[in-house]
Amino acid sequence: MTEFDAIVIGGGPVGAMLGLMLASPCRSVAVIEARSSQSNDSRILALSWGTRLIFESLNLWSGLPVTPIKRICVSQQNGFGRVHFTSDEMGLPELGYVVRYVDIERMVSTELRKSGVEFIEGTRIDRLDPGYSRTRLYSGQKRFDTHLAVFADGGKLAEEQRLVTMNEKRYAELALVARITLEVPATGEAYERFTSNGPLALLPSGSEYSLVWVLKPDEAEAYRTMHLNEFLIRLNRTLDQALPVAINAHERAVFPLLLREAVVPVAHRVVLIGNAAQTLHPVAGQGFNLGIRDARDLAGVLVQSHGDWGDETLLQAYVARRRADSGAGLWWTDHLVEWFGSQNFMISVGRGMGLSAIEILPGLRKWISRKMIFGWQG
Ligand SMILES: Cc1cc2nc3c(=O)[nH]c(=O)nc-3n(C[C@H](O)[C@H](O)[C@H](O)COP(=O)(O)OP(=O)(O)OC[C@H]3O[C@@H](n4cnc5c(N)ncnc54)[C@H](O)[C@@H]3O)c2cc1C
Repeated sequence: MTEFDAIVIGGGPVGAMLGLMLASPCRSVAVIEARSSQSNDSRILALSWGTRLIFESLNLWSGLPVTPIKRICVSQQNGFGRVHFTSDEMGLPELGYVVRYVDIERMVSTELRKSGVEFIEGTRIDRLDPGYSRTRLYSGQKRFDTHLAVFADGGKLAEEQRLVTMNEKRYAELALVARITLEVPATGEAYERFTSNGPLALLPSGSEYSLVWVLKPDEAEAYRTMHLNEFLIRLNRTLDQALPVAINAHERAVFPLLLREAVVPVAHRVVLIGNAAQTLHPVAGQGFNLGIRDARDLAGVLVQSHGDWGDETLLQAYVARRRADSGAGLWWTDHLVEWFGSQNFMISVGRGMGLSAIEILPGLRKWISRKMIFGWQG
């Protein structure tokens, strides 16, 4: 039986990218994925310019169908204050990109099959047995031995196995996602609007828009199934005169919202990355961007080592590298939800003043843009 240097559990976007980063003729690496065919996940992801640079470093960018974001307009319903973030101000061609989850999944899986990494599909890992010099993974009767087990499974298995201590907060709201046609075609503008129901994002996706709308659970379910005309009336009431009018909507789906964080994302011969290590509220579109930086930093630590990839000092070096970025990403996202979710009049005035201050202070605006694009690593 092969004893792998590393096995990545989960061939989602983060796990598959890590597999590609670790591909080397000198190392035996496997990615084990439960799915045996392409998923039908309707999620749309906003990728930052920084994430584009990571894709480019693996020669993956040119094959990906993306819609550029050149400007982001942030506003609040029933209150003053508005901020515009632009790529011109940052001296970049674009601030970020919108891409379908399934397109990333298809492209990274195709590349993984050609990479020399063993890509084992249709195999769900259900248990692990940590040993002193190797970790054993099981899928039914099948067994895999590895020096390092990387959990990139989105979080369920890592949680079931109680590998590390987790902090968890389940938000009361759900996210309704849909494809929306506005009366004006998309031209690179993304909108983030904080409404009395919850935050709402409209991201350009081809000539249409992708909606992520955070709603109370009964509202989200009702909006998902209600007649199209009724849904458009509700949506346009929320967009009011601040944003263009929505004229069509399709592919409505609902996702639960969770904040979960591994207090320390490593254990003996085990490391958690991507959503397994931290699951964020999608309000600021940061989850995948953070996950891909986990993969980059873990690969950066591992490929420099000629020894055992499960070595404790390597895993601690990885934790030290990720601490600031992942901690700040979680803190910022959670507080954004709280700060913009409040209906209190004084907080609404404070929010308006905050937005106005960011709009008139280019230095502050650029600082925020830099953190959103490249993360919080200094
Ligand atoms: C509504 C919504 C909108 C979002 N928008 C954005 C955005 O705009 N920008 C952004 O950056 N992020 C966004 N996110 C977050 C983003 O979707 C996640 O951060 C990202 O998908 C995490 O990728 P992952 O590979 O870690 O996990 P996942 O995408 O969950 O992939 C995990 C993989 O592991 C496999 N797997 C699971 N268990 C096992 C097992 N036991 N054995 C083998 N394989 C297993 C699964 O089949 C899957 O392929 C959003 C999330 C939601 C819910």
